[in-house]
Amino acid sequence: MTVPSYPYEAPASQALFDRAAAVTPGGVNSPVRAFRAVGGTPRFMVSGSGPLLTDADGREYVDLVCSWGPMILGHAHPEVIAAVQEAVARGTSFGTPGEGEVALAEEMVARIAPLEQVRLVSSGTEATMSAIRLARGFTRRAKVVKFAGCYHGHVDSLLASAGSGVATFALPDTPGVTGAQAGDTIVLPYNDLDAVRTAFEAHPGEIACVITEASPGNMGVVPPLPGFNQGLKDLCAQHGALYVSDEVMTGFRTSKAGWFGVDGVVPDLMTFGKVMGGGFPAAAFGGRADVMAHLAPAGPVYQAGTLSGNPVATAAGLAQLRLLDDAAYEKLNAASTRLQGLIGEALTKEGVAHTVQSASNMFSVFFSETPVRDYEDAKAAESFRFTAFFHSMLASGVYLPPSAFESWFLSTAHDDAALERVADALPAAARAAAGAKAAA
Ligand SMILES: *Cc1c(COP(=O)(O)O)cnc(C)c1O
Repeated sequence: MTVPSYPYEAPASQALFDRAAAVTPGGVNSPVRAFRAVGGTPRFMVSGSGPLLTDADGREYVDLVCSWGPMILGHAHPEVIAAVQEAVARGTSFGTPGEGEVALAEEMVARIAPLEQVRLVSSGTEATMSAIRLARGFTRRAKVVKFAGCYHGHVDSLLASAGSGVATFALPDTPGVTGAQAGDTIVLPYNDLDAVRTAFEAHPGEIACVITEASPGNMGVVPPLPGFNQGLKDLCAQHGALYVSDEVMTGFRTSKAGWFGVDGVVPDLMTFGKVMGGGFPAAAFGGRADVMAHLAPAGPVYQAGTLSGNPVATAAGLAQLRLLDDAAYEKLNAASTRLQGLIGEALTKEGVAHTVQSASNMFSVFFSETPVRDYEDAKAAESFRFTAFFHSMLASGVYLPPSAFESWFLSTAHDDAALERVADALPAAARAAAGAKAAA
């Protein structure tokens, strides 16, 4: 991929990036942060407040990444910070059960009817990895169906045709994942129920589960077509497989009850992360009590974690969830609708072919005339226009995901002032997108 070179306008970030590159592969601890898809210097952030981030050079940005979703109340929300400080003062980890993890599990279970039991873990990757193991242990079957462009963390068996960074870097597959690890994964095109039907017919009694993003956000936002998730659930039920809904991104983001609260399709297992941790490493998987009963120590499927249910992380997550009432989602949805409209107007004005796709308050912009329904469509969009758009927005003080294959995120702290700053940045970015040329 040809990456255009951008003048380094961020000397303090560049100095940190140089130091980082000496001690960390690629200078980052998660690939998309490195700006490789868009070029230029990744901004090293030093603080956040409400909708704003401040980088090492002292420049301020309206943040439309929100830590890839978790910061749904904005940065350094006073009540979340207070809960964390109170928890930290009591000690940071005990390696025993504690009340905080019970309270967080209760809050989650109360919000999502089909979620009867949860097990807390520390990352979304752990959640999906464990859910897959449990599905295999419960059904005594090996194969897993996933969809191209859906990202479920960097679980070996789920990295085939994954979204997020794998999409950003157009990695065909990942060295280090063996044929044996990937061999039981069946990758199908998203939004294609016939493909799922055919897979079940071709592998009778072999498929343990179908895992899908409840509404995908890791190939950009590509919502399920009406009936797709219900169709998956029905096919799973018909063939004795489990329907695993990955709500790591959508959970407690797209509604009080996540994407389940939007489409009402009842999963057998669900996975969570991002919002539920309040900016700390807390994640979970859960679902039907009879399935969860197979998990150690209640059952034979092993799963464990030294920091699982960490008291500081659970305090942050619980404080955040308790603040996420109906009014919070109304505010988020309204801000998102307004922003989507502003983006569409700016691009239309410059004659740039685009589609703004949303799933509740998650949304992303595809430089494509036609709606994007699967990973092939997403890859066919004119992503080179995104690069120009991204850098113009960055220069104007708006921090977008540094990849065309990611959702944009808002918080309840994105007030009129923040949205106006984004609106002010849009005309120049739309012109940049209009004038962008595909790399030769
Ligand atoms: C972010 C994400 C994951 C992985 O979570 P990590 O905490 O980064 O390991 C899994 N599934 C989905 C849908 C995600 O968006």
